[in-house]
Amino acid sequence: MITTTPYWNPILETLDMERLQQLQLKKFKRIFKWAYDHSRFHRSLYDRAGISPSDIRSLNDIRHVPTVEKSMMRDIQRKDPFPYGDALCVPIEDVTEFRQTSGTTGQPVYQPDTWQDWEWWAESWAYILWAQGYRPKDRVFIPFGYNIFVAFWAGHYGAEKIGCEVVPGGVLDTAARLLKIQELKATAMMATPTYVLGMADAARNQLGIDPASLTIDKITCAGECGASIPSTKHRMESAWGAKVYDHSGATEIGAWCYECQEQSGGLHVNEGLFLVEIQDVDTGELITEPGRKGKMIITAFDRIAQPCVRFDSKDVIEWADYACPCGRSYRLIKGGVQGRADDITKVKGVLLSPSAIEEVVRGVSRLGNEYEVIVEKKGDTDRITLKVEFLPETQAQRVEIEKELTDQLRLKTNLRYNLQFYEMGELPRYEVKARRFKDLRK
Ligand SMILES: [Zn+2]
Repeated sequence: MITTTPYWNPILETLDMERLQQLQLKKFKRIFKWAYDHSRFHRSLYDRAGISPSDIRSLNDIRHVPTVEKSMMRDIQRKDPFPYGDALCVPIEDVTEFRQTSGTTGQPVYQPDTWQDWEWWAESWAYILWAQGYRPKDRVFIPFGYNIFVAFWAGHYGAEKIGCEVVPGGVLDTAARLLKIQELKATAMMATPTYVLGMADAARNQLGIDPASLTIDKITCAGECGASIPSTKHRMESAWGAKVYDHSGATEIGAWCYECQEQSGGLHVNEGLFLVEIQDVDTGELITEPGRKGKMIITAFDRIAQPCVRFDSKDVIEWADYACPCGRSYRLIKGGVQGRADDITKVKGVLLSPSAIEEVVRGVSRLGNEYEVIVEKKGDTDRITLKVEFLPETQAQRVEIEKELTDQLRLKTNLRYNLQFYEMGELPRYEVKARRFKDLRK
């Protein structure tokens, strides 16, 4: 295997924009026709909108193709044939993989994949891991039982595809995982930011081990925005003495973007495998210019069992206004996924992004990692409560900390907060994915 190139796919990742767009059009037409021809759900959706595969002649035509929402998939899957409804595009005997969405609200959506789809998942993860410096010599520890959720299964297969050695760390508790990392001298790890920070605490407090003394030199994050929030990334990197990289993916979509070793403040969209469109949340207008946030509409070109064609992901993203020094032509989204369109709500008429609050809290060094945000209605006005924890021995500095926090919050979010301080360990802890933002007005 050639291990000298910095790109997993040196041709696609450096293709000029014109040829890349030609490829995207060709691949969009192919998957759109596949969905139209093989699924009653898709065909009736497109027929109702009066659009068929022969109407797609340019990338501009794509915006007339109706979007699909998660709630539609939920409805389909309650109907026959069991269990995927009539969105399934292959004979049921071709399905080799079952997964389901991991969201904490609503009925999960089932996700069937064929073996071809599964190889595609591993391929999409190979781009991510190669860009983050994974090579065949790496020993990768995955500190989770993967269960019916796709992310770490796909990360596992992607790492193997590259040639890494993979250690599945399910069933073990956190202390046993840390000891296994120490024993095997693992060099890389994949985890949610919540768990990366939780493991570092457990290493220090339960085992008396400095996590930075372990041999992990790179960590790939999944499941939460943290690795793209500078202050959270900094906390993880300094705790582990390792590089921490972000990526984003979803069960219904695939692993569609990744940070590279340059850590340039954005994630590359894998534009050879996916078409990403950004849409204004209020007007539905297509956003092509950098610096304007909108929600992502995404198509996976090569996934065939349950296709992802113009899926309304509700992820809020924006294009970056710079190119990455790594030389990839795949465009960057600035700051990664910035939240969910459902969560980025207006408070007192101001757009509030939960990740902006995280950036501030984790940037105050005398506060702990945990926090909680509660938005509620008091009379006619919105009130935001932010709960934070003091690090041990810092309570005497409360006045200073409160001032620093208030100033930073006003600067970064333009809002006032009702601040509540707690002692270390009083706020709820989350094992894998955290729910730290609660909007009680809904
Ligand atoms: Zn790059």
